[in-house]
Amino acid sequence: MAVRVGVIGVGYLGKHHARIFSGLEDVELVGVADINETAASGIAQTYNCRAFSDYAEMIGLCDAVSIVTPTTTHHAVAMDCISAGKDLLIEKPITAGIDEAREVVAAAERGKLILQVGHLERYNPGVIAAAGMITAPRFIESERLSPFMGRAGDVDVTLDLMIHDIDIVLSLVDSRLSRMSAIGESVITERIDVAKAWLEFENGCKALITASRLSPEKVRTLRVFQRDAYISIDYQKQELRRFRRKGTEITSEVIQPENREPLKEELQDFIGCVRYRRKPAVSGTEAMNALDVALKITDMLKD
Ligand code: NAD
Repeated sequence: MAVRVGVIGVGYLGKHHARIFSGLEDVELVGVADINETAASGIAQTYNCRAFSDYAEMIGLCDAVSIVTPTTTHHAVAMDCISAGKDLLIEKPITAGIDEAREVVAAAERGKLILQVGHLERYNPGVIAAAGMITAPRFIESERLSPFMGRAGDVDVTLDLMIHDIDIVLSLVDSRLSRMSAIGESVITERIDVAKAWLEFENGCKALITASRLSPEKVRTLRVFQRDAYISIDYQKQELRRFRRKGTEITSEVIQPENREPLKEELQDFIGCVRYRRKPAVSGTEAMNALDVALKITDMLKD
């Protein structure tokens, strides 16, 4: 039987959830819900499903839902879906606050529901290919710079962009955080627009994470240094370069995994988790850990 899915929030990202679900095998896109009725009916028409202006009327018809509304609404929407007994994919960050995240994770666990969080970069073919090569990172440096889009104004850049790399760094370093420091500033919005965070782990690994929504060009890179190799990932090209020392020489290779749409991989994985009751690769707990770090960095910047 097809898994019946509904998408809540069909703005910039939610419309891609609707597009992908409508094309997945063994998935029925039941409907899309948005408080913006024009947006909901436009997307519903394109993907041949029902439009709802109130998600409460849609969730009863679904087995699972995707929550792609602004971050500050995730908690309320997720709690309603959990109360209705629905499996859920929540876009990153899981919620705006840590207590809210804890409540969502605990409620989903109590209801034995699948809870996956949309940390998309985990599904980037470049990251997947690099993961097997990254064995003992000593230093990690990431840059995520975006032109100002006027979106995600409800959260700081730490929750909007930096959290992607916080999650990737936490997934690569097998050790606990021992120290953090950060600098950043609000420049054109009332919230922090540009930030750098320095993380130190108990095993000695260190990471420098940069995020900005004030850059003229879009940059998304991750560089990992370990004793035997330097691995550089370009998230946008889905490509990596590996430099290795052989005696006195440094060799380099470019590795280009097969191009895939990370969001499609992520949504397909979610459907697999729903169907086979598998634990998601990015569970609520992992998303909560990334949020916890992002919020501590935000607090340091605001102090
Ligand atoms: P957006 O503002 O473009 O779209 C949000 C939509 O939700 C709007 O159409 C709005 O009308 C609707 N909405 C708001 N409240 C609602 C409610 N109570 N019920 C139903 N609909 C409601 O925002 P966006 O850029 O698409 O971001 C949405 C979420 O996706 C955010 O949490 C953001 O962090 C996340 N996001 C993740 C990535 C990623 O790379 N994984 C990229 C972009 C956005």
